[in-house]
Amino acid sequence: MTESLTQRDQKCIWHPYTPISAQSAGPIAIVKGKGAWLYDENGKKYLDVISSWWVNIHGHAHPYIAGKIAAQLHTLEQVIFAGFTHEPAITLAERILELLPGEFSRVFFSDDGSTAVEVALKMALQYWYNQGVKKTRILAFQHAYHGDTFGAMAASSRSIFTRPFDPLLFEVRRIDPPLPGKESDALAQLEYEIKHHRDTLAAFIFEPLVLGAGGMLMYDAEPLDNMLLLCRQNDIVTIADEVMTGFGRTGTLFAIQRLQQKPDLICLSKGITGGFMPLGLTACSEKIFHAFRSSDKSHTFFHGHSYTANPLACAAAGASLDLCAEPSFNKNLKRISHKHSVFSAQLARHPLAEHVRTTGTILAFDLKSPEGTSYLNPMRDRIYYFFMEQGILIRPLGNTIYLMPPYCITDEELDTVYNAIMGFLNEHFHRNEFYTDN
Ligand code: PMP
Repeated sequence: MTESLTQRDQKCIWHPYTPISAQSAGPIAIVKGKGAWLYDENGKKYLDVISSWWVNIHGHAHPYIAGKIAAQLHTLEQVIFAGFTHEPAITLAERILELLPGEFSRVFFSDDGSTAVEVALKMALQYWYNQGVKKTRILAFQHAYHGDTFGAMAASSRSIFTRPFDPLLFEVRRIDPPLPGKESDALAQLEYEIKHHRDTLAAFIFEPLVLGAGGMLMYDAEPLDNMLLLCRQNDIVTIADEVMTGFGRTGTLFAIQRLQQKPDLICLSKGITGGFMPLGLTACSEKIFHAFRSSDKSHTFFHGHSYTANPLACAAAGASLDLCAEPSFNKNLKRISHKHSVFSAQLARHPLAEHVRTTGTILAFDLKSPEGTSYLNPMRDRIYYFFMEQGILIRPLGNTIYLMPPYCITDEELDTVYNAIMGFLNEHFHRNEFYTDN
């Protein structure tokens, strides 16, 4: 008998964010994707309501993006990006700079979200170094998540993800995010940091409007604006990590469009290629770039990855931007936002749903649990498998359930997911399995 893909996989592959245990059922082998759907080797289909780790914004195997990559493939697949350039990278950089609000003037390419963050942190630190200023401290939010490489891990909140490496991670000053009702505390903490550490604070990195992997925590633009203004007044470089929020997630193409104050650096990845190719980029203002202009070679930004600005990835990103420019793009963002808002009101009335929140195309809530809200909440696996059985792919962060669908998802498909959520809550409520205090 021939082995299944899952069986072959289990003998040779180590998967990300996957506990290794003898009981593990093994990964599901996907053989095809189309629109919001994934199809496994046994013919079962799954509605991908997390856009395959938040990357696939236009749906799977979109023929337009596929066509553009295929065309590029026959012309130029890869070229070293130091000393050389190519049209797909140039056009993409021009278009991104045109679309970004604020004063961005240069694009630096990398491979993924973590490397886009590494680049931003290193640029911010070397910006001061090149000017002979000793500022080496990074400021970041509690509950932040910026990636899995060492610098990005250091900027991220200390958690189960970072624990084995904590002794090696550089110290980061931490302030609370300005969550609803906590805005003045967050601002006061920033004021404290500035008062005591102004001379050493190099940069402030933040996820605008939504802290993603840290629990889908949402906050408003206004308190962030106040914080960015304070940073600007005190010469702290600001870095927006829009790896998750970029390309429509929060209802506008970029979350920073909702801000008055614009950051000095921005990190983009995930949705940038529509989920077709790995690509990251960091855009900076002329102020940052200027500090690297020098006849002194030690002022060079000595950073680069083998696949920097890969032409296929740039072609995919260009095609994805074409789709973002279609009228249907904004229409879909509005449609999904509206559907989420209506469903939120229904969800908020359920005794097991706490902290129901939505921003743009993201909807999140916490399942009430005696263990409290955490990534290791034991409800996680039960939630995950309940939905997988029904052919719905969600990946709860502990007891936090969230939806982040591709924008092609239809109203009917969204209703299927909403109904499944209500079904899950009702079933468990009636079984009385949950802790309730009302
Ligand atoms: N920043 C943020 C805000 C993210 O959500 C992520 C990934 N979840 C990253 C950085 C890291 O991106 P990648 O997984 O592509 O390295």
